[in-house]
Amino acid sequence: MTTASGPLAERLAALHQRIATACARAGRAPDGVTLLAVSKAQPLAALAEAWRAGVRDFAENYLQEALPRIAALPRDGLRWHFIGPLQSNKTAEVAARFDWVHGVDREKVARRLSDQRPDTLPPLNVCVQVNISGEPGKAGVAPADAAALCRAVAALPRLRLRGLMAIPAPLKKGDSPREPYRRLRELRDALTRGGLELDALSAGMSDDFEAAIAEGSTMIRIGTALFGARDPASSRGAQPRGIP
Ligand SMILES: *Cc1c(COP(=O)(O)O)cnc(C)c1O
Repeated sequence: MTTASGPLAERLAALHQRIATACARAGRAPDGVTLLAVSKAQPLAALAEAWRAGVRDFAENYLQEALPRIAALPRDGLRWHFIGPLQSNKTAEVAARFDWVHGVDREKVARRLSDQRPDTLPPLNVCVQVNISGEPGKAGVAPADAAALCRAVAALPRLRLRGLMAIPAPLKKGDSPREPYRRLRELRDALTRGGLELDALSAGMSDDFEAAIAEGSTMIRIGTALFGARDPASSRGAQPRGIP
């Protein structure tokens, strides 16, 4: 269980220290990993505090929760990442308000995002979500179908294919936390050999980001280790299925 204590700026500094250590151990440069602040079920004041502490990448699961926050925080230099499940009827707002979408797992959603991305904005950055642990009913394409979906995304004019995203199954006793992320990296490498350009791996959360960094993650999605526990009384604080 990850506990967060002390003011947010101190937790952020401690996280950056851990990221630097994990990168050094993997022989990687620390600026190759971006921390995304996952702010679901946190009050706006917490996001503002994170912004003052220097966070510029915010990740949101729920469109309705995200819109007032996007309006409230300064516009310049901020990147908004949509990481939640994305239904077709939400794509227009996501295409207009966000810089990245991490959970694309259907061509239909990709097509709508491309069609609806405003011309005034640069192409929308997209990660294809992979069901890396093969869990029944879980979001994400099967690894065997990732190449086809990546090609479809890459061909859409208003999207920019960036990489792969995964949320591994909860670990069982004795499991290596690196194993699912190793499979994700190997899938990325295979797709790259097949001619796709993929520069991002969106992988790792509060409890396992060091394992993800060891396997090449470039974007870690951190909620509780930065903001503290989510309010369990709030349904928004409930963890989406499949997140340990
Ligand atoms: C909530 C969430 C996270 C952050 O989880 P923590 O364990 O709180 O760091 C990361 N990714 C996704 C997709 C999430 O929904």
